[in-house]
Amino acid sequence: MVQVNENFLKLKAGYLFPEIGRRVTAFSQANPSAKIIRLGIGDVTEPLPPAVIKAMHQAVDDMAARETFKGYGPEQGYAFLREPIAEHDFAARGIDISADEIFISDGSKCDSGNILDILGSSNRIAISDPVYPVYVDTNVMAGHTGAADASGRFEGLVYLPGNEANNFVPELPSEPVDLIYLCYPNNPTGTVATKETLKGWVDYARANNALILFDAAYEAFISDPTIPHSIFEIEGAKEVAIEFRSFSKSIGFTGVRCGLTVVPKQLMGTTPAGEKVSLHQLWNRRQSTKFNGASYVVQKGAAAAYTAEGQAQMRGLVDFYMTNARLLREGLSKVGIKVFGGVNAPYVWLRTPKNLSSWDFFDLLLSQAHVVGTPGSGFGAAGEGYFRLSAFNSRQNVEESLERIFKVIG
Ligand SMILES: *Cc1c(COP(=O)(O)O)cnc(C)c1O
Repeated sequence: MVQVNENFLKLKAGYLFPEIGRRVTAFSQANPSAKIIRLGIGDVTEPLPPAVIKAMHQAVDDMAARETFKGYGPEQGYAFLREPIAEHDFAARGIDISADEIFISDGSKCDSGNILDILGSSNRIAISDPVYPVYVDTNVMAGHTGAADASGRFEGLVYLPGNEANNFVPELPSEPVDLIYLCYPNNPTGTVATKETLKGWVDYARANNALILFDAAYEAFISDPTIPHSIFEIEGAKEVAIEFRSFSKSIGFTGVRCGLTVVPKQLMGTTPAGEKVSLHQLWNRRQSTKFNGASYVVQKGAAAAYTAEGQAQMRGLVDFYMTNARLLREGLSKVGIKVFGGVNAPYVWLRTPKNLSSWDFFDLLLSQAHVVGTPGSGFGAAGEGYFRLSAFNSRQNVEESLERIFKVIG
C-alpha cells in the first residue's frame, strides 16, 4: 500500500484563492451580465517589454540552426544572464555578489519552497503574519509544523504579527529562532523595511546563528531611494542570508518563468554534530540533482532586461503599475479608507470600512461593485479586518473599479 505524505492533510482545505474563485464563480453564474474586475490574485496584465520579446525571438532562431542550437544548459544558469545580474542588481548598488553566487531558476516561488531541501527539520521558524502563504505551506508539507488551530495558525511556527502599531513591519522575535522569512517590499501589505530594520534582523541572525530567507520579488517597485533593494546592502548579511528574486513582476514573466537565488559562498549551516557546512555547496548539489536549468530562450529574454533599452522599458512597466497603485491609494484615502503600502510596492493594503470582517468586505465589493480583491485574513490571523488590492491591471479597470467602490462606500 502506498503511503502519502500526511503533512499535506494539515493544509487548510478552504485555501484562499480556490475559495475566492468559488465565490466569484457562484456570483457570476447568478449575475451573468455583471462585468467583474479582478484586483485579487497578484498576476501581471501587461505584455513583455519589446527588448525582451526581440531577444526571445532571436533565441528561438538560435534553436533553429545546428550551429547555434542549445541543449542542456548549466544547471546554475548561463553566464550571459548571471553576469549582468551581478553587475546591475548588486555591484551597481555597492554589493559584492559574484556571478557564481547567483543561481538562475524557473521562478522564486519554487526556490523559496525548494530551499527547505537543504535545511534541517528541527529549525525554529519565524514567519510574519500576515504572510505570503508559500512560506507557511511549504513548511507544513515538509513536516515542520503541527496542526493548524481555528485561526489557521500552525503549531510549531513562531508568528510575528504585523499591525498598525508597527506599520505592518513585525518586530524581532521574543524567543530564539533559527530560520526567518522576510519579504520586502511586502506581499500582501505593500510595506517596506528600512535599512535600520534590516540591520536589526541581520544583527539578530548573526547573534543567534540564524538564517534569513529574504524574498525581494518586488524590489523593482521601490521608489524611495533610502529603502534597500537587497538584504546584502546590510553589512554582514552575506554570512546570514539567502535572497530570492524574480522576473515575474518586474518584466511580466509570471507566465514565462524566471527567477534567481543568491547563496553567498561564505554562508554556513551547522550539522547536529556542530560542523559547519557550506549552504552554497548544498544548494548547488540540490539544483544539479533536481533541476536542469531554466530554458535558454527564457534566460535570453531575462538578460535583455539588463540592456539600456530593456532597463528603460522595465522602468516604464513598473511606473505604469505604480501609477495604478497611487490611484488606488489616493482614491481610497479620499473616501476615508485607511490604506497602507502602494508607494514602494504594487499592493494596497486597506483597513475594511465599518469594521467589516475581511470576507464580509470581499462579499460586499463583489456583490455591489463587482470588484474582486483578496481578504486579508487569508494571509494570516493578523490580516483579519484588512483587505488587499493589487495594482496589476489596466488603467481603465483600476479607474472603473474605483468609481464603483466610491458608489458603494463614498
Ligand atoms: C509573485 C511573488 C513571487 C514570484 O514568484 P515566481 O515564482 O518567481 O513567479 C515571489 N514571492 C512573492 C512574495 C510574490 O508575491
